[in-house]
Amino acid sequence: MSQAQNQEPQTELGRFETHYANWYEESVRDPNRFWGRHGKRIHWFEPYSIVNNASFEGNVSIRWFEDGTTNVSYNCLDRHLQENGDRTAIIWEGDDPSESRKISYRALHEEVCRFANALRDRGVKKGDTVTIYMPMIPEAAVAMLACARVGAVHSVVFGGFSPEALAGRMVDCDSSVLVTASESLRGGRRIPLKQSADKAIQIAVHQGLTVSTVFVVGERDHVPSFVEGRDVLYREAVETASPECAAEHMNAEDPFFILYTSGSTGKPKGVLHTTGGYLVYASMTHEVVFDYRPNEVYWCTADVGWVTGHSYLVYGPLANAATTLMFEGVPTYPNAGRMWEIVEKHRVNLLYTAPTALRTLMGAGDDYVTRSDRSSLRVLGTVGEPINPEVWEWYSRVVGDNRCPVVDTWWQTETGGHMIAPIAGVTPLKPGSATLPFFGVVPVIVDQEGNVLTGVAEGNLCIAQSWPGQMRTLYNDHARFIQTYFSTYQGKYFTGDGCRRDADGYYWITGRVDDVLNVSGHRMGTAEVESALVSHPSVAEAAVVGYPHDIKGQGIYCYVTLMGGVSFDDELQKSLIAHVRSEIGPIATPDHIQFAPGLPKTRSGKIMRRILRKIAENDLSSLGDTSTLADPTVVDDLVANRLASK
Ligand code: ATP
Ligand code: MG
Repeated sequence: MSQAQNQEPQTELGRFETHYANWYEESVRDPNRFWGRHGKRIHWFEPYSIVNNASFEGNVSIRWFEDGTTNVSYNCLDRHLQENGDRTAIIWEGDDPSESRKISYRALHEEVCRFANALRDRGVKKGDTVTIYMPMIPEAAVAMLACARVGAVHSVVFGGFSPEALAGRMVDCDSSVLVTASESLRGGRRIPLKQSADKAIQIAVHQGLTVSTVFVVGERDHVPSFVEGRDVLYREAVETASPECAAEHMNAEDPFFILYTSGSTGKPKGVLHTTGGYLVYASMTHEVVFDYRPNEVYWCTADVGWVTGHSYLVYGPLANAATTLMFEGVPTYPNAGRMWEIVEKHRVNLLYTAPTALRTLMGAGDDYVTRSDRSSLRVLGTVGEPINPEVWEWYSRVVGDNRCPVVDTWWQTETGGHMIAPIAGVTPLKPGSATLPFFGVVPVIVDQEGNVLTGVAEGNLCIAQSWPGQMRTLYNDHARFIQTYFSTYQGKYFTGDGCRRDADGYYWITGRVDDVLNVSGHRMGTAEVESALVSHPSVAEAAVVGYPHDIKGQGIYCYVTLMGGVSFDDELQKSLIAHVRSEIGPIATPDHIQFAPGLPKTRSGKIMRRILRKIAENDLSSLGDTSTLADPTVVDDLVANRLASK
């Protein structure tokens, strides 16, 4: 047996370097032993004796550490007080560059205890659901941690969602308590959250929901239509509550939170995560993948309304006693240099963001980046979509001055934490590849019939065995859970993503399976064609979809947004077609290129190809549900351009 297997969890980079292969091998061969050891990275009130008990067959049952008891809030706060009470837990940076706040672990602990008591005062108890509809302010994290403290199940709904979307999610999980704020400030604009919340409650009540309490962050004068008896000012509730609050002892498998997926592919699903396995996995991946080191400042730009905001803005970092930065504004306000100004101002060491933001900032020009001091940066991360190699190189070279590893992390709301990702500073990188599986993760590539492909292969990505951070069910709909994830390929978790494995065993996500192109019998990821287009100097962003083609089966339809100052004409079209041919090959020759002033994106910044497919097919009457789009008007422009091109 190798030495690594006898070691306690390590934080030192060098240990991982020498032992990655050993650790990985043990983690998949003997998960009980591996996770039995690493489960101890968090505090358990009652230790577990059973580690893994999961089956992907039949009724699908997934349990980890099932006889242990713990509490997430205790692990993220109380546990750190003695040694790190004065360390900054949260740095908050406002929309206005002159506004920021620092909150120590001690102060955060006190605030969470007070708000937890306020929740209890309003009758919230273990197992109840609480909806959180908040801007990117520390009170959002306080609300989440306070729910965790009393054992309530939170459902965070992104603050940019409409009243209808909020209402649907509140009704779905029968949530009678809401935590919100009077307003949010983003890009200099006031967003009236409370107003939307009031509308949502009206809709929800109409559908039979009882809403007993609405906590509102903000001044009384700024809260529109304050409903006496129902509405409670957060500040008043916190000030009058006791600062002492014992953390509820939760079973490892007690529900922890519900999170509705972003809905890029259809009706949102209420993904349910439980307590123990989730926290072990979020904290371990945060420390290992980013190589987080004590006292470093870590900044994840994701909103708390997405899973990245749960695992890598709040729970992973706080469980690791990290300093986590939370930014209420947008990357382009007051100008496209804002992110790099924040890096300089707070001496950020680790930055975790999304390809959509990077593409926008890359299009704005390098000067915005290079005029800020980025010498504090040590590790760069990305998540959310395949990152085009061109953008990856820019991130590494311009943002990271060629000093910082770029960790491209592939995972999903459903997986709780990173699944395929490099270990910063350890795993040799390839631009555009999420590289290798994390410990305990067994990716398999299958063909349409479900045959497992070995060696170099391309097909549909499944995961063959359970890991602690895995979702346990869809809230109140276990049948849909089995149907969605475990029925396509018997005994395997199906991710819905396409993937290629190269000769080095590296994984390349090619996009969602529904988006994979089949041109004259050749399978090709939309991501590959998009990356080829983006590597052309005139293109800022591209989205590619298939459409029915008489001869080839599927034709390649491309939407391109251009760099500032470039105009779209025949010559550019020819040049783009030639460029894709030379980058990928004649098989990938675009059949149609349409200029797009903007692309339809979800509020989490993902391109919604479902709509682009309809436009490409000229099926303009049934574009489907566009309510989760960040800006529905871009669709009108695309339709107009489509009609003009006929
Ligand atoms: P829905 O499931 O409702 O359609 P969604 O899949 O967009 O929404 P998320 O769970 O936020 O919701 O996103 C996970 C998906 O994002 C993955 O399945 C994958 O398609 C994509 N993705 C995330 N990270 C990466 C990455 N590093 N590389 C490639 N794709 C990624
Ligand atoms: Mg998904």
